[in-house]
Amino acid sequence: MAGGQYEQVLARLREAARILNLEPGIFEILAEPERTLEVALPIKMDDGSIKVFIGYRCQHSTVRGPAKGGVRYAMDVCMDEVKALSSWMTWKCAVAGIPYGGGKGGIRVDPTQLSEGELERLTRRYVYATYPIIGPEQDIPAPDMGTNAQIMGWFVDTYSILNGVYSPGVVTGKPVPIGGSIGRREATGRGVIFAVRELLIRLGKEPTEITCAVQGYGNVGSVAATLAHELGCKVVAVSDITGGRYNPRGLNIPEITKHVENNRVLEGYEEPGADNISNTDLLTLDVDLLIPAALQNQITEENAADIKAKFIVEAANGPTTADADKILGENGILVVPDILANAGGVICSYFEWVQNLQNFYWSEEEVNSRLDNIMTNNFAEVWDFAHEKDLSLRTGAYILGVKRVVDAIKLRGIFP
Ligand code: NAD
Repeated sequence: MAGGQYEQVLARLREAARILNLEPGIFEILAEPERTLEVALPIKMDDGSIKVFIGYRCQHSTVRGPAKGGVRYAMDVCMDEVKALSSWMTWKCAVAGIPYGGGKGGIRVDPTQLSEGELERLTRRYVYATYPIIGPEQDIPAPDMGTNAQIMGWFVDTYSILNGVYSPGVVTGKPVPIGGSIGRREATGRGVIFAVRELLIRLGKEPTEITCAVQGYGNVGSVAATLAHELGCKVVAVSDITGGRYNPRGLNIPEITKHVENNRVLEGYEEPGADNISNTDLLTLDVDLLIPAALQNQITEENAADIKAKFIVEAANGPTTADADKILGENGILVVPDILANAGGVICSYFEWVQNLQNFYWSEEEVNSRLDNIMTNNFAEVWDFAHEKDLSLRTGAYILGVKRVVDAIKLRGIFP
């Protein structure tokens, strides 16, 4: 990711601080992550050579609870990015009303270039290097881009060995047999569609009246597209890194999902009436609902004026830049922001952690119904607050989140 990502977060924080009339000292606390760690990770590669990878962990805030946030394995991971993503987690957890602060980490690596053994050694070394600052009551990582449930399995094992106690609560997003939560994989996409449902109720629209485009067909996008389809929306376009498909009569989502499960990518998928479409064109399709579920910075100053969707529900983290947001607002496009819409993942991670701490596991039905309750209540809270104060949903959500963190800072006081 290009530098300046943290600056984007600060721009939104500044806006919230201005509206909340925050005192400068409190703003400064929020603007500086509590702790950052950069580590060098020497790994013996399969060919006998040694390579050193650079890893990061940032704990933006632990004022409302342990830091919480994923670990990303990608070539553009840098301190600026983990700082930005960790502060997003602070606001997201606060808006979601779950007792966590914000954290994020990562390793600058292309995981597809490593063998499984190299990936395992790299993960274990990263856990060793971050061991002093992570833990079920300090900082709880999770999967993010480039990491998965298996990597979380190695994480738990390494941490537990170092700790001398089996500690499944140190990470979430684990495989179910070692303490993962049923429903966690689908939780973000499911939460996104709960947000869509709540939005449509407030707009007085039936899902069957709605056409929808989804960018990204991974963990989040595939589930969001499937559940939007099941809700009755007409999903006319989907895409992934290999390009997109568009069918104005509605795509065959179950078939697409099967294809992607079997082939990992959309490439090669064909259905009668569906045309190829680029990711750029997908974003500016004339649809009711756009769900960006791929990457950050997809809706920018360059394409925001061309967006024709009436509403955008952000499944990805940071898909809209601050400049684009202004343009969308001027054009009357309603945006349900990431920190509200994609919180299903971290809410379910919280469920996983609670189940680990209690050693008592819930059914899928219980997980999904609790997720529904929390997402529905959070949506109502942000919607009502934003409407009452005449704010965008994004600013409303930020202000609610920031205010909760500020209240916690004030109640705890400043040490010493
Ligand atoms: P993933 O790796 O499973 O899927 C990403 C998808 O985006 C893939 O289909 C990939 O092909 C596609 N993609 C990648 N580059 C693209 C490009 N240039 N153009 C179009 N498509 C592209 O990741 P995910 O877990 O589904 O995460 C997607 C987004 O949602 C990320 O922003 C992530 O931070 C966010 N998110 C994920 C979770 C979660 O629980 N997985 C929770 C909250 C937010």
